[in-house]
Amino acid sequence: MNYNKKTVKDVEVSGKKVLLRCDFNVPQDKETGAITSDKRIVAALPTIQYLLEQDAAVIACSHLGKPEASFDKWVKKQAEKGKDPASLTEEKWKKSLAKLSLAPVAKRLGELLGKEVVMAADVVGEDAKAKAAALKPGEILLLENTRFEKGETKNDPELAKAMASMAEVYVSDAFGAVHRAHASTAGVADYLPAVSGFLIQKELDFLGGAIASPKRPLVAILGGAKVSSKIGVINNLLEIADTIIIGGGMSYTFSAAQGGKVGNSLLESDWMDYSKEMIAKAEAKGVKFLLPVDTVCGDKFAPDAKSQLVKAGEIPDGWEGLDIGPETVKLYCDAVSGAGTVIWNGPMGVFEFPAFAKGTEAMAEALSKTSAITVIGGGDSAAAVEQLGYADKMSHISTGGGASLEFLEGKELPGVACLLDA
Ligand code: ADP
Ligand code: MG
Repeated sequence: MNYNKKTVKDVEVSGKKVLLRCDFNVPQDKETGAITSDKRIVAALPTIQYLLEQDAAVIACSHLGKPEASFDKWVKKQAEKGKDPASLTEEKWKKSLAKLSLAPVAKRLGELLGKEVVMAADVVGEDAKAKAAALKPGEILLLENTRFEKGETKNDPELAKAMASMAEVYVSDAFGAVHRAHASTAGVADYLPAVSGFLIQKELDFLGGAIASPKRPLVAILGGAKVSSKIGVINNLLEIADTIIIGGGMSYTFSAAQGGKVGNSLLESDWMDYSKEMIAKAEAKGVKFLLPVDTVCGDKFAPDAKSQLVKAGEIPDGWEGLDIGPETVKLYCDAVSGAGTVIWNGPMGVFEFPAFAKGTEAMAEALSKTSAITVIGGGDSAAAVEQLGYADKMSHISTGGGASLEFLEGKELPGVACLLDA
């Protein structure tokens, strides 16, 4: 896949209507609907401000949550959840949609920009069309939640065409949604010249750079809960990396596959054979494949679990591995210290419990000290690095959980593939 894409700086936007796909899928308070973090809105500001400074008329759009755009389907889903069918009125359905309106985002965006953000009542309906037509250079309009349209998640060409017809250029800056081939993330690019905004550009530079032309040696640190969710990533990185480091819950499947005792640790016995194959594949390819040599285990899966340090593969019955041990940390830090590029996906232990966050923290610290390009991908990995206070020490923390995983798997991302090659 080509990661070298035209950006918003490569096209004329001045005086033009620009359809800008943002990731305004913000977390909300369940009761009040209030936005609990505006991080994603803040992240979108550089591209929006650039477009407005260039005198573009910006038609922003995004999805928010998972609204059910069809009343019949909503009824079916609610009934499956055990709701009384008689209570499932159209009014209630509309209320469930209203909770996912982007109006609060328009308000917050307006505060951050210090200018009015016009809110449309729909995506491609009368209101959106009229407001888009009336929009002047330097003004910004936000369309309603794209998933209120049935055609959005089906990538319906009619919807894509209708969205595209309001604008002259398409700019995508919603990295968190590029792994989805939806009308607003990919379909519209069939009808408009399509380029990336600054957020996607940075993701492509760092994630794309780390994969397509890494400064070597390339060290990949892989952890997290399950091997099964990381098979694609391990497979792809086996082709690219010089060293692969395994930690976290997935390491016990590797350990068990080699005859180790793993007690109550996370174990996916179905994946033991596969784990062995991967170790063999690494050997055949000359990729260093490092597994933990010691383990901090707990007597239960809880923050206040009693803990003890044991050798890897010697976890006593009734205990479970919750973090990598100090010998492993040393081994892994040495492997990282000479790296040219480090890609990190998946925490080394249950970092949510402070007593079992040491391994993850030590790796974060080691990364913060290297001169290597350091790229963090994965929702929980990003959260761990932020929580432990190392965020500003990394070269790049990917903003897309699912999207960055698919990126590391080497999959083609529809929302990137549809952009014009540079
Ligand atoms: P990412 O979102 O970065 O891709 P994952 O979702 O794969 O990462 O994994 C993150 C989760 O893995 C964390 O919630 C963490 O608690 C869990 N985890 C890490 N090590 C262990 C372990 N030894 N036992 C159980 N869970 C673990
Ligand atoms: Mg995760």
